[in-house]
Amino acid sequence: MKAKMMVVNLMAIREILTTPDTFLRKRSKKVRALTPKIKALIEDMIETLRAAPGVGLAAPQVGADQRVIIAEYAEPSEDPEAEPKPPKLHVLINPEIVRNSSETNLNNEGCLSIPGYMGEVERFDTITLKALNRHGEPIRIKAKDWLARIFQHEIDHLEGILFIDRATEVWKLEEEEIQERSPLSQK
Ligand SMILES: [Zn+2]
Repeated sequence: MKAKMMVVNLMAIREILTTPDTFLRKRSKKVRALTPKIKALIEDMIETLRAAPGVGLAAPQVGADQRVIIAEYAEPSEDPEAEPKPPKLHVLINPEIVRNSSETNLNNEGCLSIPGYMGEVERFDTITLKALNRHGEPIRIKAKDWLARIFQHEIDHLEGILFIDRATEVWKLEEEEIQERSPLSQK
């Protein structure tokens, strides 16, 4: 009798590494092929990000030194009267910033790997990046404001760079602030 093949696609929440784990300081490797292992990593990263909750996650944060980042963020509508846009999930493999604005802005950032801290970080206003999507197809994305900031933060993770390395100021959050902290600030 032929054994029945069962495809099991169980997503799992992975542990998020936190500082001073030295794995966060490694440079991640380029993804060469969309193997089942990479696909599982992506599924798990999505699950982990949503459970955190956060708006962005890079593979090294879950202990995989692979150039994969994800972001899930609802961009504000241009029209303040309009319904807010639904959050959009971005899965980027081997992301690379190919263009950036000369304008930069300072804003506050946090990181799921540095719980309880925030910092003020200067980032480009607008970036264009190229990457592969989760199907391995080449894509180009132009991002501005918060989404551009999230992508810059996550791409830094692939180089072993954390926001505290770039921050002009870092501060510890009070217990109450951690409770109330908006997921917007969690990357
Ligand atoms: Zn981070």
